[in-house]
Amino acid sequence: MKLYNTLSRSIENFKPIDEKQVRMYTCGPTVYNYAHVGNLRTYIHEDILEKTLRYIGYPVKRVMNITDVGHLESDADEGEDKMLKGAKRENKTVWEIAQHYTDAFFSDIEKLNIKKADVVAKATDYIEEYIEFIKGLESKGYTYMANGNVYFDITKVKDYTKLSGMNLDELRTASREDVHVDVHKKNPQDFVLWFTKSKFENQAMKWESPWGVGYPGWHIECSVISLKNLGEQMDIHCGGVDHIPVHHTNEIAQTESYTGKSWVKYWWHGEFLIDNNGKMSKSSGEFLTLSLIEKKGFKPLSYRYFVLNSHYRKQLAFTYDSLASAENAYLKLKSRIKTIKDNSKDDKEKNIEAAEKYRDDFKKCLEDDLNTANAITVLFEMLKSDDINNVQKLDLAADFDRVLSLDLLKDDQCQVHDELAEYIEEMIQKRQEAKKNKNYQLADSIRAELLEKGIMLEDTRQGVNWKKIN
Ligand code: AMP
Ligand code: ZN
Repeated sequence: MKLYNTLSRSIENFKPIDEKQVRMYTCGPTVYNYAHVGNLRTYIHEDILEKTLRYIGYPVKRVMNITDVGHLESDADEGEDKMLKGAKRENKTVWEIAQHYTDAFFSDIEKLNIKKADVVAKATDYIEEYIEFIKGLESKGYTYMANGNVYFDITKVKDYTKLSGMNLDELRTASREDVHVDVHKKNPQDFVLWFTKSKFENQAMKWESPWGVGYPGWHIECSVISLKNLGEQMDIHCGGVDHIPVHHTNEIAQTESYTGKSWVKYWWHGEFLIDNNGKMSKSSGEFLTLSLIEKKGFKPLSYRYFVLNSHYRKQLAFTYDSLASAENAYLKLKSRIKTIKDNSKDDKEKNIEAAEKYRDDFKKCLEDDLNTANAITVLFEMLKSDDINNVQKLDLAADFDRVLSLDLLKDDQCQVHDELAEYIEEMIQKRQEAKKNKNYQLADSIRAELLEKGIMLEDTRQGVNWKKIN
């Protein structure tokens, strides 16, 4: 398989450290609010990566953290405490906030058919391990105390910027988010390993430590949780591109300083989903969640389909129009499969060779740096083809769905948006407009016309429904 590696800035041939098990780590959510659909885009692509590895035959162990301890609004140890902010907003304790949004996250990923990681680790369950880790770094001379906090000194590390490939000045610009620089740091990129001095009152989550009562810095959890669950080296570490200059750079600095070994073989990063304003943000009022798009009548898997038609290394712009056209294509795809299912009894002869060719083409697309859009094209071609029989088509669709996870063979979601349905929706629209313009004669005639075709309209508070009558 070919996979882009951020570290080498090139496409590489994927070869795991140990063929018996691919070790993979994905940075998880900060549970102070709902995930937005941008976050979910990254998790969908990571899911594809994991399932592709399994599809081509590698056993995988994947670990994900849940950031349930207050971390700061900016990657650079500045800004407001996110968990505390969530708690204030909703008048709950930080623990309640964490639990609520962790549950919401798992409900979202389930709806999107994203497989849960083999190990899900809450940041607050590893406090002792962080303390051990910091002590280790301290004894090797990588840390200093200032203003009551323990900092990591980045000048002690060779190649601190190797992941981003930037120089320190560029990195500084890339990571600065309009906040004050901490005057206690020796270098602007130094980061806190353990806070005892918090500028927030009522810091709710705190623990005893050799440096005083306090709480861990943010970057530490991914290093420690992965060391604990995956060992000192791993194959793939994933996250969104925003994590390259600070979070992942700091993870590498501290982990490699601690173990004295090189840590991650392949760094995988998903590009951003952007909205009209160019950036998807949680801080500005209503933001795009899966529940919101569901409320607008879309199916979660239509969003998955929308995402899979883009490449993970390209930005993707979200609009409701493009989601609607993705939903349309997705439902047509399902209805095509349903038709094949309904016609699979009187089948023609099998053509094993032809079927294997489709399977191979599908696999090749995924092995080509996860080209999901091309993989979906192969699926369409396979369904349209006349060189294999219907049973083979269904088998292949089920096989491809091990990776795509679009519930291709499930009937329940198959609300067929065929031409008739489109025509009816159009007529309903026209009737609504006629009613709005008080043209009741036209409205009634549209209703009668549909009735003649065996379609009955029902006006409800939620809108107009239709059903077929005999
Ligand atoms: P967070 O909960 O903010 O730590 O983000 C969870 C994951 O979503 C991380 O891997 C981020 O890099 C990623 N992410 C954040 N914003 C976006 C976005 N607009 N599009 C895609 N991924 C994102
Ligand atoms: Zn992380």
